[in-house]
Amino acid sequence: MQSNNIKNSEIIKFYKKNQTQRLDIVRSFANLNDLEIQKLKQFNSLNFTCANRMIENVISIMPLPLGIATNFKINNIDYLIPMAIEEPSVIAAASSAAKIARKSGGFIASSTESLMIGQIQLTNVKDLSFAINQIEKNKKEILNQVNQCDSILISLNGGAKAIKYRIINTKKQTMLIIHLIVDVKDAMGANIVNTMVEKISPFLEKLTNSVSILKIISNLPVYRIAKSKAVWKKELISEKIIQRILDSYQLALHDPFRCATHNKGIMNGIDALAIATGNDFRAIEAGAHAFACLTNKYQPLTKYYLDENQNLVGEIEMPITAATIGGITQTHETAKICLKILNVKTSKELAQIMASLGLAQNFAALRALVTDGIQKNHMKLHSKNIAIAAGASEENVDAISNMMCKQNNISISNAKELIENYANK
Ligand code: NAD
Repeated sequence: MQSNNIKNSEIIKFYKKNQTQRLDIVRSFANLNDLEIQKLKQFNSLNFTCANRMIENVISIMPLPLGIATNFKINNIDYLIPMAIEEPSVIAAASSAAKIARKSGGFIASSTESLMIGQIQLTNVKDLSFAINQIEKNKKEILNQVNQCDSILISLNGGAKAIKYRIINTKKQTMLIIHLIVDVKDAMGANIVNTMVEKISPFLEKLTNSVSILKIISNLPVYRIAKSKAVWKKELISEKIIQRILDSYQLALHDPFRCATHNKGIMNGIDALAIATGNDFRAIEAGAHAFACLTNKYQPLTKYYLDENQNLVGEIEMPITAATIGGITQTHETAKICLKILNVKTSKELAQIMASLGLAQNFAALRALVTDGIQKNHMKLHSKNIAIAAGASEENVDAISNMMCKQNNISISNAKELIENYANK
C-alpha cells in the first residue's frame, strides 16, 4: 500500500525533464504499473467504444494536455497533482506558489461531510403551515422511503439525513421548496439525489395537497464546503509585494469586474484537477460562483491578511463537489490513473486538494500581477501557440517563438512576418 506522507513532491526542475523522465518520477511517486505508464504514453486512453458509451453522437475525442503540479504539501502529505488544461503557465504558477508555501509547512485543509441538497418545488400549496406540518409529521417516513433508493450508500453510512424548507414568494404564487439533505459520501451525488427527489415527490404532493414541478439536485451545495490555508513568508516574497497583494485583494472585494477575474484564476487550478480526475467541472464552477454571491454581493473565494509576523496568509472557502467514485471517475482510464497519482481515498480529501490548488493558483496570479504583470511569463509560454497559429511548422516553431520573445513582441502578426522572413532566408 502506498503512502504519500513519506514521499517528496518537491522535484527539482521537473519542467526541464523529458516525457520519459517525468513519467519515471510519477511512476515511482505513485507506484504506477507498466500498463498505466503505457496508457499515459499513448496519448489515447479513450477509444470510440468507451467515448460512445459516455455521450451521444460521438465522432471523435478532444484531448487536452495533462501536466503535473509539483511541490504540494497538504496536511503534511506530499502530492503530485495532475492537471488537464490547455492554458500555458497555470501549472508552473501553481507549482511555484506551492514551493514557497511548503517553506512554512504547506497547506492546511479541511472539508465538511459530502452533503448535497435535492430540491423539490411544490406549487399550488393551499395551506403552507398545513403542508410544513404534514412533512414534519412524516419526516421519518420520507427519509425511510428515499433511503431505499441506494443500498450501497446506506451501507457506507450515507443517504438522506435531513429535510429543510424554503418559502419562495413569486409574482404568481408562494411556493414551498423542500431541501432533502443527502450525504453522498465519495460521489458527486447528482444521480443519487435526483433519483431520491423524483421518487419522493408524488408522496409529498399527496401529503401537502400540492403540485410538484422541479425535482433536482442543487448545484449550490452550501453544506459541502472545503477550506484551505497557507502562509507565504515575507522574506520569500518581500513586504512590498505582500502589500500590493493585499491592495489587489481589496479591489476584488469591492469590484465585481476584478472579482470575476480573481475567481477565474482560482478555477484555473480547480477545473484542471477536476477534468484530470473525470469530475463534473461545470457543477463545481456553478457552485463556486453561486457561493461567491451568496451575500447578494459577488465576493472573492479567497481572502488575504497578515499574521503576527507580517507574513501573508491566504485562505480559501468554497463548495466543492469532488468525486472519487461515480460519473466517469472509474471508467475513464486517464481519470483513474490521475486518482491513483493523487492516492486519494475519499472525495473529502480530493476536495481539500482542489481547494489548496485553487488557493495556490490565486496567490501565484496575484504575485505575478503585482510584479511583472501576467503577460511576461504567460506570453513567453504562449508564444509557441501563437507561432503555430500563425502558420509556423514543427521545424521552425521554436525559432519563431524565441525570436518573438527576444523582440518582446509576441503576436500573430509578428509571427507571420518572422515566418515569411525565415522562409525567404
Ligand atoms: P453515479 O450515479 O455514477 O455513482 C454513484 C453511485 O456509486 C452511488 O449511487 C452508490 O451506489 C455507488 N457508490 C459506491 N461506492 C460509493 C462511495 N464510496 N460513495 C458514494 N457512492 C458510492 O454518480 P453520482 O455522483 O450520483 O452522479 C454524478 C453524475 O451525474 C456526473 O456524471 C454528473 O455530471 C451527472 N449529473 C449532474 C447534474 C448536475 O450537476 N446538475 C445533473 C444530472 C447528472
